[in-house]
Amino acid sequence: MVSFEEARSIILDNVQVVGTEQIHLLEATGRVLAADVSAPWDLPLWDNSAMDGYAVRWEDCKTTPCRLRVTGFLPAGAKADGVTVEAGCAVRIMTGAPMPVGCDAVVPVEETDNGQQEVTLPEPVKKGQHIRRRAEDVTSGVTFVRSGTRIRPPEVNMLAGFGMALVPVFCRPTVAILSTGDELVELGQMPGVGEIINSNTLSLAAAVTECGCLPRIIGIARDNRESHFEKLREGLKADVLITSAGVSAGDCDLVRDILEELGAKQLFWKVGIKPGGPTAFAMFASTPVFSLPGNPVSTMITFEEFVRPALLRMQGHQRVLRPLFKAVMRDELKKKPGKVQIVRLRLEKEGSRWYATSAGNQQTAILKTMVDAQAIAVLPAENCGVAAGDEVDVHYYGNHIELE
Ligand code: AMP
Ligand code: MG
Repeated sequence: MVSFEEARSIILDNVQVVGTEQIHLLEATGRVLAADVSAPWDLPLWDNSAMDGYAVRWEDCKTTPCRLRVTGFLPAGAKADGVTVEAGCAVRIMTGAPMPVGCDAVVPVEETDNGQQEVTLPEPVKKGQHIRRRAEDVTSGVTFVRSGTRIRPPEVNMLAGFGMALVPVFCRPTVAILSTGDELVELGQMPGVGEIINSNTLSLAAAVTECGCLPRIIGIARDNRESHFEKLREGLKADVLITSAGVSAGDCDLVRDILEELGAKQLFWKVGIKPGGPTAFAMFASTPVFSLPGNPVSTMITFEEFVRPALLRMQGHQRVLRPLFKAVMRDELKKKPGKVQIVRLRLEKEGSRWYATSAGNQQTAILKTMVDAQAIAVLPAENCGVAAGDEVDVHYYGNHIELE
């Protein structure tokens, strides 16, 4: 048996990015940049007006109020080439329009009499005011986003601003999902006596998608060697294989043996964690294989704690573990020392502090508590239980916009 921490580091030491590809910027949100990107030109490319108003020569505006003759109009999109502003003159200019030659300040229209032929400036003018300078944002050649950056709308905006329709990103791994068990029927069929619906496949596919990867549903391996060989072989063609169930010590638990016969190298089996103890991890060449326990709560918790960080690392993400924060427990939590215990919680903020209550019955068989959970407490192995009022380390479970 390995500890929770050992299991995580074995996994993270063995997984790597699966490659890079060029994709269109429209598809790039949430993906991770696979190269540093530097500016192909200055941003902005020319001095331009930051306001709707008048481009003026500061020299002409030293007396207040001052009057200038309006000799032109420069809307956004206009070309300023050849527009020269003579002494005693001004040009009406709109936000974003290039600064005309000779001008070194912009006076916002609100600070003038809005004159068409002539304009009066009652206030003093500062040299350089309301001008966006060439390259004040980014200078040509400077790296403005680094490899490993997760692409969000601001990155999209800047990449688009530099004309980059295609961007290099790390590939999204394909993740094969295989359930095992004679008791399983597929979604859409009515379970008979002793049968249950293969809900883990759906849930794992959802979790894989949420992590940005591409689920490949392999179906169900029945509890016999032939079926396991066939389905595992198919699953091993993906970048990652996740199996559920058949990994404990029961008579029908064939997953680990058949994986080994197929050439996968088991790196651990059994982790000091509850729920999720029977989890196994193997490598088949460069393909990580996660064999998760079949109980739906265990499957989801081991996915969250072990598979998710691996899938994020494989896509080039810098941070792969959810940040832990402190919450004050409102309930008592019983625990024996020895194993890490995962507790499903609800969260509430009062003032600047987070408070946590149990999301319900913590037994592994209770799925509803998982549905109600907004956060997870990872109680360290040595922990002997938590009293009401104690602080625990928690992390979010799922995306909870209502908590942010
Ligand atoms: P096993 O590890 O094969 O003993 O399975 C453990 C428990 O998980 C059993 O009660 C199964 O019925 C349940 N289980 C196994 N596979 C699935 C699945 N694909 N979907 C939902 N429950 C499952
Ligand atoms: Mg089984």
